[in-house]
Order: sequence, then C-alpha cells, then structure tokens
Amino acid sequence: MLENISRVLLTEEQIQTRVKELAAQLSAEYAGKNPIFVGVLKGVVMFYADFLKYFTEHCQMDFMWISSYAGTVSTGKAIVKQDVSQDIRGRHVVILEDIFDTGNSLQFTYNHLLAKEPASLKICTLLDKPERRVPGITVKADYTGFVIPNEFVVGYGLDFNEQYRNLPFVGVLSPEAYEK
Ligand code: 5GP
Ligand code: MG
Repeated sequence: MLENISRVLLTEEQIQTRVKELAAQLSAEYAGKNPIFVGVLKGVVMFYADFLKYFTEHCQMDFMWISSYAGTVSTGKAIVKQDVSQDIRGRHVVILEDIFDTGNSLQFTYNHLLAKEPASLKICTLLDKPERRVPGITVKADYTGFVIPNEFVVGYGLDFNEQYRNLPFVGVLSPEAYEK
C-alpha cells in the first residue's frame, strides 16, 4: 500500500496533537451548547472519531453524505446522498470536513444546512488547500487543522479511488499513481 506514497506530509503524532488542540478549543467554545457535529462522509471518519473522543462536553453526532468528486478532479457539482437525521433548527451546528479544496462541497453543505435555520453554523476542517479555491466560494473555515500545499493527499480518511483511507497518517500520493 505504501509504494505510491511519495512522502509523509503529516505524521500520526502531528495529527493527534492538532486534533486534541482543536477539540480543546471547541470544548471551551461550545460548553453548555450541546452542539451537533455534522460529519461529511466518508473522508471525515478518522478525524471525526478522534475529534469526538477528545471533545469533553455534551454533543450529538450526525452525518451527511454528499457526492461531488471522482478521481482527483473536482466536478463542481454535488448531490445529497444522505441528509442529517434530525431537526437542526435552533441548534448549534458544526460541520466537520476532511479537506477544504475547491470549496464546492463545503459551500454546498453549508448552504444546505443553513436553510434548515440552525442557531449557529460553523465549519471545522482538518486540512485546507487555499491555493485550490475557485471563484464564488463565500464560506470560510472557522477552525482549521493544517494548511497544506497544493498536492493530492491520501490517508487518515482521505482516499484515491476508495483506497488509502486506513492510513494513520496523511501522505502525498505520487502523481504516477493516478497518471497511469
Ligand atoms: P472540494 O473541492 O469540493 O473543496 O472538495 C471536495 C472533496 O474532494 C473533499 O471533501 C475530498 O473528499 C476531496 N478532495 C479534495 N482534495 C483532496 C485531496 O488532496 N486528496 C483526497 N484524497 N481527496 C481530496
Ligand atoms: Mg470529503
């Protein structure tokens, strides 16, 4: 599995340290608010589980599954494959994402959840690739784990054609892996 990883970008230890910091920050800011953490499947699963384990206050879990991405090229379109399972109106909601890339899927997810009239709606992304943002994206990440360069990364939930999600670190996929 490691033959197509050209280098490790974020080690397991770096990720765990940063996820703990984010969870501590949000634990303080959301204490007493019983937030709903909406994870965007499937890439967020590792981050989501680790983050929730380090979050020390009452909270609830929910998930959305949207489809917008095939291979390494973003299509700019999204559909809701699975919506949140509860009424979020009047609730404090935090979207958890694996990566903020072009911004299309976070913009779509944000608009979709905002229409349900939550009391507040924020975005927490593990990774951000600001160089990739496309015009027309108005959402911003309220909480970011790591800003990373414009390279295609896999691991810690992130896939290439459904592979590599189970790596405990984030690595750069060598271009030969998707050019062949
Ligand atoms: P968007 O381009 O809409 O911001 O990102 C949509 C989705 O594309 C992300 O949630 C993620 O699943 C996928 N994606 C974007 N950049 C990368 C990357 O570098 N590696 C992987 N594996 N997926 C990515
Ligand atoms: Mg994703």
